[in-house]
Amino acid sequence: MLSPSEPRQCFKCNFEGMGSNITCPRCRKNHFLSASSVRTRGTILVVVGLFLIALIGGIGAFIAILLFGSANQDAASAKRLNEAIPVLFVVYGLFAVLIAFGLNSLLSGIWMLVTGRRNRVMFWIMWGLLGLLGIAVIIVRVMIK
Ligand SMILES: [Zn+2]
Repeated sequence: MLSPSEPRQCFKCNFEGMGSNITCPRCRKNHFLSASSVRTRGTILVVVGLFLIALIGGIGAFIAILLFGSANQDAASAKRLNEAIPVLFVVYGLFAVLIAFGLNSLLSGIWMLVTGRRNRVMFWIMWGLLGLLGIAVIIVRVMIK
């Protein structure tokens, strides 16, 4: 089936040009996307970003309410809270990275919706955040054991 030739951008090598299929003329990867399919992906990123921010924000708030609610009840739980602070610090660090990841998804998605292109800077930030996320998960696992 032949689809009409339209402006496309390659997600792999960033080549821009006219094309009628998803195979990139430069790198031959099947990531040669039209503005409309970039916008579809942008919409998904916006939804994922908003979901992640709401979810992690909700969990973070829930834990905070739980902890500070119990800390006010008696001295023993206040002591437990004090002992848990280093772990909490790392857990909230993890939440912060996840929220940053959500924000980056949201902003990348909005960028893609508005421009019909991918923003490479945000793409690299995403990989940087994924790296940080991996480190945070390792630290949490070590501390909780
Ligand atoms: Zn390419």
